[in-house]
Amino acid sequence: MEPYVERERAWLAPYAFPSAASRGRKYDEPAHRYRGPFQRDRDRILHSSAFRRLSGKMQVFTGEMGDYHRTRLTHTMEVASIARTIARVLRLNEDLVEALALFHDIGHPPFGHAGEDVIRECLADEGGFSHNAFAITLAEELELRYAGYPGLNLSQEVLDGQRVRAGDKGRRVRPLLEVQVVEAADSVTYNAHDLDDALVLELVSLDQLREIPLVAPILERVQQKLGNPDGSVLRQVVVRELLDAQVGAVIAYSSRYLEESGWTSPTDALASSFFVGLNPAEEGEKKNLERFLFQQVYRHPRLLVVREQAQREIRELFEALHRDPALLPDPFLARAASHGTRRACGECIAMLTDDGCRRMHAARCMGSTNE
Ligand code: MG
Repeated sequence: MEPYVERERAWLAPYAFPSAASRGRKYDEPAHRYRGPFQRDRDRILHSSAFRRLSGKMQVFTGEMGDYHRTRLTHTMEVASIARTIARVLRLNEDLVEALALFHDIGHPPFGHAGEDVIRECLADEGGFSHNAFAITLAEELELRYAGYPGLNLSQEVLDGQRVRAGDKGRRVRPLLEVQVVEAADSVTYNAHDLDDALVLELVSLDQLREIPLVAPILERVQQKLGNPDGSVLRQVVVRELLDAQVGAVIAYSSRYLEESGWTSPTDALASSFFVGLNPAEEGEKKNLERFLFQQVYRHPRLLVVREQAQREIRELFEALHRDPALLPDPFLARAASHGTRRACGECIAMLTDDGCRRMHAARCMGSTNE
């Protein structure tokens, strides 16, 4: 028996999804001699060019706003770390969780949701665009790394998990617990780090946190404990405690439920209405923090300016490429022949980093020779 199968049998909870139960890959491949299928998926994602490009894609704040804040890549790494922590305590399959976490945002276009919205508009007559669905296109068609087939040939469970995120209407299956862990980890992670980044960028102040029921008691407790520390230390302790409290709350609620569930297989979890996450009261407080972030941070005038400029540039670039598809880089010329010019233009832009998008816009729309 492969060592990872043995280890999983000894460690995983009965409702965790074991590697040995994987439905395999689209293109059959021999098993690896020491890595389980989900470890291989994780490595395939990690070594993909789409994953590396996440380092040049914004999470919420763009590069010229400084170098403290998260990029799409560091956000992804934080989600993977927190998801693994939760999975380990719940005795779920950490390898599957890690692969899903590293994969979850891989389809993000440049300039985050601002970029996604404008590409969706440009492709409105062609079925639209979603970064969650584009992750599947990248993994199945656009990443070219292997001689025998296109894509990364990931395990079905990783692709299915992402299809749940993409809201594939044809598949109304409930996600595995491992998929639910990544979902829970994603929002807990970005709430904490977006707050941290927004404080550093002075879009919000520590004082404003007293308006947020979830954060106010943490701030008060930390100030009582530390007296009057340096503002940067205070911010970091508060954010860390917020994150720790949220992860702890997800684990407390979910582990209690799972322990009492009596479930004996991952299929049992699929038949239940339970979701890994916070209890309903805590979920309400989290929503409150998210409303604060939406109003005070994501719609901050400094971000709206960046958002509008990015959208204008993406729209202009799309139109320039669409007018003259010969400008498309090689792989997308073939894509235009098979999937239509508009789709190929949208996908070409979606794969760019923020800087890459600006450079291509300058070259194609402003006559710059930098591209
Ligand atoms: Mg995310």
